[in-house]
Amino acid sequence: HLSKRLQTVSDHVEPGSRLADIGSDHAYLPIHLAKNHTIEYGVVGEIAKGPLSNAISEIKKDRLLDVLHPRLADGLAAIEPGDNVNAITIAGMGGNLITHILEAGKEKLSGQEKLILQPNVGEPVVRHWLMTNGYRIFAEQILEEDGHIYEIITAKKAPQPVHYTDLELKFGPFLMKEKSPVFVEKWQEEIELLKRVIENMHQAVHEDTTKIQSIQKEIDTINEVIQVES
Ligand code: SAM
Repeated sequence: HLSKRLQTVSDHVEPGSRLADIGSDHAYLPIHLAKNHTIEYGVVGEIAKGPLSNAISEIKKDRLLDVLHPRLADGLAAIEPGDNVNAITIAGMGGNLITHILEAGKEKLSGQEKLILQPNVGEPVVRHWLMTNGYRIFAEQILEEDGHIYEIITAKKAPQPVHYTDLELKFGPFLMKEKSPVFVEKWQEEIELLKRVIENMHQAVHEDTTKIQSIQKEIDTINEVIQVES
């Protein structure tokens, strides 16, 4: 009964992983993985007491307290040295918060772990943090559920620095190559939104032509990216 979004996140967790799920809320993701025997060890991190106590009761219901370790903590502070975590999931938050959690918890990252990130918004900020901190994105997914479009980014520390172009940071290096129907839909919606912004600006008393031109340029860029080559 896992949502399609969390199912897609969980698909990236390799069997035998030692997982930390940060901002776990009800702990549905780690519970699903523990029940499947994909993970034998999981840290369930939550900053808020309410969600943590929900997580604890869900974990108890499934008798998984020997596998899943719920901890009240801010971000990666939930991870302790003996955990030997090699996979971290952070899902269902804004890209700024995900980036903040990674930045604030840097000393907890060994560089061996796979990061599986699902920002609800602000994906470019996450990609930028990954690039700046020496990570390589090695898979991306985009999916639609209940009228929302979600992106999932997985990354691992790279031996060599990786450079992503501004276009790749904005659209996603894999997603912009793949150009799936959901990807095209996401960016068509963005174009419609930007067109409405321009229309509204035309109605303003003092029309800001420079701003309108820059938004038009953004629309042109999106159109070029989503255009399917024949
Ligand atoms: N990860 C689950 C999912 O994708 O369905 C739950 C997402 S829920 C919207 C976000 C959760 O992150 C909330 O329960 C919130 O309390 C928690 N959270 C927010 N900031 C956090 C932080 N700095 N450290 C740990 N948890 C945090």
